[in-house]
Amino acid sequence: MNPDTDPELSVVIPMYNEEEVLPLLVDRLRPTLEATGATYEVVAVDDGSTDLTPALLQRMHRDWDAVRVVRLRANAGHQAAISAGLVSARGDYVVTIDADLQDPPEVIGEMLSLARTDGLDVVYGVRNDRSTDTVFKRVTARAFYSLIRRMSGTSAQSDAGDFRLMSRATVDAINELPEHNRVLRFIVPALGFPSGTVEYRREERAAGVSKYPLLKMLKLSVDSLTGFSMAPLRLATLLGIGGGVLAVLLGIFAVVESVMGKVVAGWTSTVVIVAAVGAAQLLCLGLLGEYIGRMYTQMQGRPTYFIAYDSLAAPARRGPTD
Ligand code: UDP
Ligand code: MG
Repeated sequence: MNPDTDPELSVVIPMYNEEEVLPLLVDRLRPTLEATGATYEVVAVDDGSTDLTPALLQRMHRDWDAVRVVRLRANAGHQAAISAGLVSARGDYVVTIDADLQDPPEVIGEMLSLARTDGLDVVYGVRNDRSTDTVFKRVTARAFYSLIRRMSGTSAQSDAGDFRLMSRATVDAINELPEHNRVLRFIVPALGFPSGTVEYRREERAAGVSKYPLLKMLKLSVDSLTGFSMAPLRLATLLGIGGGVLAVLLGIFAVVESVMGKVVAGWTSTVVIVAAVGAAQLLCLGLLGEYIGRMYTQMQGRPTYFIAYDSLAAPARRGPTD
C-alpha cells in the first residue's frame, strides 16, 4: 500500500478494553481485507482503554502496516469513538465495525461490492437473526426503534446497528455536523443518501464481556430520543392544555356548587385560581420549550436537504450548508 495515496477502504473499529478479543480480531480481519483486493487502512480507535488494549494496538500497528491507531484520552463512548474514527479515515469507502466479532468481518467484502455495483452511498448491515441477543435486549430494542421511528420520521431499521459501509460523501457530510451526542444509526438514514442492505447473522461476542452496561444503553436511548424529537419539550404544552380544560370544568362545577350553597366561602375562587394559574404556567413553559426546541435544532446544524441532482450545475450532492 502506498502511504501517499488515500486507500479505497477504511475500516473504523472503536474499542474499549478489548484485550481478550484483539488477537482474534486480527486473525479474522486481515485475510478478509486482503481478499477484497482493495487498498485499505484499519483505523483502530482506542476509546481510553485501561487494560492492555493500547499495548496490543502498538504491536498490531508494528506488525501490520495498514493499521493506524487513534487513542482518545478518556473513555468518550462508542458513538464518539466512531466519530473520531470517521474524521481520521481517508478511504473512498469507510466501514464501521465492532471489535468483538459480533459483526463478521467477512461481510465487509460483500458490502463493498454491493456499493460499487449498485452505486450506493450507504450499505447497512442488517441482522437477520438476533438469537444471540438476550430477550431483554431484543424486546427493548424493538420497542425503542419503533418509538424513535414514529417520533422522528427517520427510516432507521430496528435490526441495523453500527455495522455499515459509507461512501466518502456520506462520511464528509457526517464529519461536518457540529452536533454533540449524535447517534449515528439514526443520523445516517436521515441524511438520505442512496442505500442498500446486506444481511448477516449476529454472532456471540468472541471474547470478554459487553462494554455496554445498562447506564450507557440508557444514555444512547436518551440521546436518540432528544436528538430526533421535540416531543418531550412539548409535554408542558400538552399538560397546560389539559390543565386549562380541567380548570374550566372545575370552574363551572365550583360555580354551580356555590350557587346551590353547598360550599364554604372562598372555596370556589381558590379552586379556580389554582387550576387556572397552573395551566397558564404550563402553557408558558411549553412556549419557552418551543423556542428552545428551535434553538436546539438550529444548533444541531443538520443540513435540511441534500441536492441529489441539479441540471443547471454539475451533479452535486451537498446542500447549501457547505
Ligand atoms: N465501545 C467503545 N466505547 C465504549 C463502549 C464500547 O468504543 O465506551 C466499543 C466496544 O469496544 C465494541 C463496540 O463499542 O467494539 C460495541 O460494544 P459492545 O460489544 O461491548 O456492546 P454490545 O455488543 O454488548 O451492545
Ligand atoms: Mg458487542
